[in-house]
Amino acid sequence: MASLSLKNIVKRYPNGFEAVKDFNLEIADKEFVIFVGPSGCGKSTTLRMIAGLEDISSGELYIDGKLMNDVEPKDRDIAMVFQNYALYPHMTVFDNMAFGLKLRKTPKDEIDKLVHEAARILDLEHLLDRKPKALSGGQRQRVAMGRAIVRNPKVFLMDEPLSNLDAKLRGQMRIEISKLHQRLQATIIYVTHDQTEAMTLGTRIVVMKDGVIQQVDSPQNLYDKPGNKFVAGFIGAPQMNLIEATVAKKGSDVTLTFGGNTIALPEGKAKKLEDAGYIGKTVVLGIRPEDLHDEEAFLASSPASVIDATIRVYELLGAEVYLYFDVEDVNFTARVNPRTTARPGDTIQLALDLTKIHVFDKDTEIVVL
Ligand code: ATP
Repeated sequence: MASLSLKNIVKRYPNGFEAVKDFNLEIADKEFVIFVGPSGCGKSTTLRMIAGLEDISSGELYIDGKLMNDVEPKDRDIAMVFQNYALYPHMTVFDNMAFGLKLRKTPKDEIDKLVHEAARILDLEHLLDRKPKALSGGQRQRVAMGRAIVRNPKVFLMDEPLSNLDAKLRGQMRIEISKLHQRLQATIIYVTHDQTEAMTLGTRIVVMKDGVIQQVDSPQNLYDKPGNKFVAGFIGAPQMNLIEATVAKKGSDVTLTFGGNTIALPEGKAKKLEDAGYIGKTVVLGIRPEDLHDEEAFLASSPASVIDATIRVYELLGAEVYLYFDVEDVNFTARVNPRTTARPGDTIQLALDLTKIHVFDKDTEIVVL
């Protein structure tokens, strides 16, 4: 069992900088939680406080209900995997994996059993006699994982473990890590700045910015229901189109005007925006690239949401096409079917799927619709 509870955790570095601000999170036993956010948002600092490598300035950290703030790292029953693997170059794979166990004076036959078991899980059995320099990046990463697994810790902390691997290997290792989580039945906290990695790995994702949690949710909810403009722009690639729009009431319609385009909102959304007092105000409109449509049938069925787009760049990615265009001075992307005949220089019509639009308050950046 290993549940974690972080209550009002703050990290203030000696120079007075607050890298983590009032961090509150409950992590259940066997959960796979991802901390994601741009560089410098405090992900690693939070992970290092959990590991005990960094003091907690204020707040409380509990593991299985026990206060851990002042417990030595070695007594926390946690294993950490870093991005630079930190393998000993002069030792074989076996010895690298056995090193921690030897330090703990684990009996030799027990070490043998644990290392072979971990090597089997990670498909490293045939490499146990090799030195790290004779391994590929992915194999080295698996050895680093193996070193953590043999200790059978309650909690695994992983700090950007795949960032030194190439794109293909990262993809493979993501699948390996997911399988590993199922097999080990352990609690894993995984740090990455890569939103794709976060979306494909985690069951629950913590999005951070400037030391503050922005949203904690499932990958699907983060994508479909971002709670603020930052999360909307950070999750998803290519990113959500975001543009300032003015809200007006025209007859019974509530409209949004942006870059010379005016769209009318469907009744439910119109009422919500009006009731919230946004008529006459500026908001931020968000629409994902796949929610802009160029098909005749869609354009005909959604006349209130059509905008003009002069295509700047056409990008074919096999199963889909990205069309890049500008709305005022804001870059927009539409993901359309490769059957499109649109090419750079053409002005085409695109319709927004009004059931999929997002509206954020311009000042607080919090979601309104
Ligand atoms: P990255 O993805 O780049 O590793 P991160 O989200 O993990 O970023 P942290 O390493 O946790 O970010 O750092 C958070 C903030 O704390 C950064 O702005 C960093 O400059 C600052 N910071 C880290 N260590 C110290 C320190 N010893 N003294 C002062 N500020 C620090």
